[in-house]
Amino acid sequence: MAGTLGGTFQEPLKAPAKALNNAKLCVEVGTTGDKGMSDETAGYDSNNIFARILRGEIPSTRVYEDDAVVAFMDVMPQAPGHTLVVPRAPSRNLLDADPAVLARGIAVVQRIAVAVKRAFAADGVTVIQFNEAAAGQTVFHLHFHVIPRFDGVALKPHTGGMERPEVLQANAEKIRKALASAGK
Ligand code: 5GP
Repeated sequence: MAGTLGGTFQEPLKAPAKALNNAKLCVEVGTTGDKGMSDETAGYDSNNIFARILRGEIPSTRVYEDDAVVAFMDVMPQAPGHTLVVPRAPSRNLLDADPAVLARGIAVVQRIAVAVKRAFAADGVTVIQFNEAAAGQTVFHLHFHVIPRFDGVALKPHTGGMERPEVLQANAEKIRKALASAGK
């Protein structure tokens, strides 16, 4: 991989873990909210946009959630189906995250990656995770980008144009269906 946004996985993803069976698929925009985030996490702004989405203060097009992780559509997708996987626990990024939170998060990343590949009949999936502004991070709550990829098709720019809500909804529905049919 060349270290650019155009990178792809070297190996195929395996089937999602069965251990995530307490998860529920999301069928509505801006569903449940979370309480209990504190300002005690060093360097963490509890009013960042993703914290507000997790609390239900701002709507999102959710495709998946469980007690530790939420996944919703990126409003400025770099490709159709661009999904953000966001652990509920407050941390700025990978650098200050609890390893247990990372473990839960990456398991959901895998599950979403398998689902978006299937949902969009993609050739591959790019997973991206930025740490601090110098590395390209713009929202300072830990998250992973999961982006379907097609041979020879470049990504749109990071935080480029806003997608129409009805397109995000349609893409989210494809992912929800793929998640629902996973393992069948
Ligand atoms: P970062 O640059 O921090 O890795 O990625 C932040 C991502 O969040 C960007 O891809 C951007 O398009 C997306 N984003 C920014 N604001 C919102 C929002 O209000 N809702 C959603 N769903 N995505 C957002």
